[in-house]
Amino acid sequence: MKRLLALPLLAVLATPVFGQGVGYTNTPQIRGQKWRVHDKDRPNPPTVTPGATFSNGASAPSDAIVLFNGKDLSRWKSGNGDAKWKVENGYFEVAPKTGDIRTRDEFGDVQLHLEFATPSKVEGDSQGRGNSGVFFHDQFEIQVLDSHKNKTYADGQAGGLYGQWPPLVNAIRPPGEWNTYDIVFEAPQFDASGKLVKPAHVTAFLNGVCVHNRKELNGPTNHQATDPYKAYSGKGGIRLQDHGNPTRFRNIWARAIGTYN
Ligand code: MG
Repeated sequence: MKRLLALPLLAVLATPVFGQGVGYTNTPQIRGQKWRVHDKDRPNPPTVTPGATFSNGASAPSDAIVLFNGKDLSRWKSGNGDAKWKVENGYFEVAPKTGDIRTRDEFGDVQLHLEFATPSKVEGDSQGRGNSGVFFHDQFEIQVLDSHKNKTYADGQAGGLYGQWPPLVNAIRPPGEWNTYDIVFEAPQFDASGKLVKPAHVTAFLNGVCVHNRKELNGPTNHQATDPYKAYSGKGGIRLQDHGNPTRFRNIWARAIGTYN
């Protein structure tokens, strides 16, 4: 009996300790990867302290659409109505339980600049702390989260392509400080029969630190699931997530990405 107990114990001791022990062990395997969705054992990315500023306060280039100029949410909607989130002091804040908001404008391949601050009063833990998100084309989320000294699963960290790819590094600033996102989203392409011919890709800088280098998405974002692509026009709006936390946003602009001559 003693010997039987000792063997499993040795096996446990010999197993490398990865991750933060927060996450799932019963979710499906991510297609094309060895990890499960929100895998508890997936290693968290290393933490990097970003430089003092990067594109913080960057004014919009002349060909950009200014999606928020600090004054109103006229370029955003919620469901079929106007966006209800709170605007004050040059930023807007998620009004929990009022729902996500979406741009009225639609984009194909797009460059997005956006700034966000997670709540200075730290409440909740893991995915319940400062959670929001930037969804491209209503389907593909880049995570917004207070992942500063917050134990959570790797593919749910700030900068993560939620449920698919953790950020290369964790470059979030502390709660209450403004972070910058500079993101290039390349839309997926489908042929006339609806077959995927080019997946979506994301390149992203969080606070001036590269967190994705033209990373391929394997389908739309979902929680605890790994969904296949469904054919669509390759155009769509940008959606910000109401995950119940009063995360703030400011200085948002986007520009269509052109083609080479
Ligand atoms: Mg989110």
